[in-house]
Amino acid sequence: MAPDALIQCHACGLLQRNPPLPAGGAVRCGRCATMLRRHIPEGAERALALILAGLILFVIANGFPLLSIRLQGQTVEMTLFTGIETLYRQGMWPLSLVVFFTGILAPGIRLVLLLSVLIPLGMNRVGRGSATRFRYAAALAPWGMLDVFLLGLLVSVVKLADQTVVIPGTSLFAFVVLIFVLAAAQVALSGDPLWSRLPVPAVVRRCAREGVAKAHPWAFATWARGFACSCHVCKLVTMPGPATDPRPGRRPCPRCGAGLHRRKPESLQRTWALVIAAGLCYLPANLLPIMTSTRLGETQADTILSGVIFLLREGMWPLALVVLVASVLVPLTKLAILVYLLVSVHRRSTRRPGDRTRLYRITEAVGRWSMVDIYVVTVLAALVRLGNLATVEAGPGAVFFAAVVVITLFAARAFDPRLIWDRCEQTHDGIGAAERTA
Ligand SMILES: [Zn+2]
Ligand SMILES: [Zn+2]
Repeated sequence: MAPDALIQCHACGLLQRNPPLPAGGAVRCGRCATMLRRHIPEGAERALALILAGLILFVIANGFPLLSIRLQGQTVEMTLFTGIETLYRQGMWPLSLVVFFTGILAPGIRLVLLLSVLIPLGMNRVGRGSATRFRYAAALAPWGMLDVFLLGLLVSVVKLADQTVVIPGTSLFAFVVLIFVLAAAQVALSGDPLWSRLPVPAVVRRCAREGVAKAHPWAFATWARGFACSCHVCKLVTMPGPATDPRPGRRPCPRCGAGLHRRKPESLQRTWALVIAAGLCYLPANLLPIMTSTRLGETQADTILSGVIFLLREGMWPLALVVLVASVLVPLTKLAILVYLLVSVHRRSTRRPGDRTRLYRITEAVGRWSMVDIYVVTVLAALVRLGNLATVEAGPGAVFFAAVVVITLFAARAFDPRLIWDRCEQTHDGIGAAERTA
């Protein structure tokens, strides 16, 4: 099938001609340089092999102990699941739910969904319901945080190493390989293995072609800007026409079935509400203890900052820096950037939209790494269960902190970066040309 004639940048909303893609090439937005399309040679086959390997490694990594500690003749082993179970037993069910979802449920379901789409694709067929399953897999992708969990394991090992003997478990190696396999699979999947193989109704294609033919007069651009609607999942541009009404809530994307909307609905209101909620949770998250450790009858409560100071005192300053940046600075900077973006949109600012879009992209990408402290608490609580000798329990600060991370993730997703450009677009009259990069 011929590639779609038009493409709309999901970061700045510019409608542009969609150039044919050379093997291994990529198309970037002509205005804000966001990656729009990418060609990965044999992407579907590569993704299938990697996802299959990923699923096997995922089962091994969850079926056998990741780490164990030995202290005065007692040995305690942990898997990710024992961590979740321990948090639940300590009455920290919201925390155990977050760890269960981000550590097991989201990555596991995503792997199964992807496999169910990629196996038929490997046989050159598109299975029934593939589009829906692929869409759900894409929605789950940001919630699988196994790479962050690996960093949490590393921090925990450093914290435990001077007091106990830490022994790597049988599945630790599988877990490390799994992280690399998932990263490689993500690259293979970024090359659109499915959408270009799905049929697009002829009327949609005709509308887009006619749109391109009429592209020069600025009148078309104004019209298209007002009505063209790009699917946020499969990137298909739908133009107004008898069978392709792109008004929100009118009809789902004719190719992948996702709900169509020109801009994220109630983006500003939702983002404000979430930013305020996260800001309210930020103080207790930093002031209340995120864990309490008892050692030979002596109890010590740790906040996020005192954990950083502990690492510094042990001479582990690179790790202290990682935790400080991920847990304290990232959530705070993220909230500050979102407030700045919201205010700039409200004030109809036209200043440096490219830089503001870049700020948004960074905010969206780094937010998940703040989960590292939650995983450290999970690993420590699961391992340090030595009765009267030593125990670690999650504290109320951890629940607030998890809330900050999850709410800011939702806030970043609620914000629509195209609103930044909507003010600048008034001076721009034409369809852009996407840039091809080899
Ligand atoms: Zn753009
Ligand atoms: Zn779609």
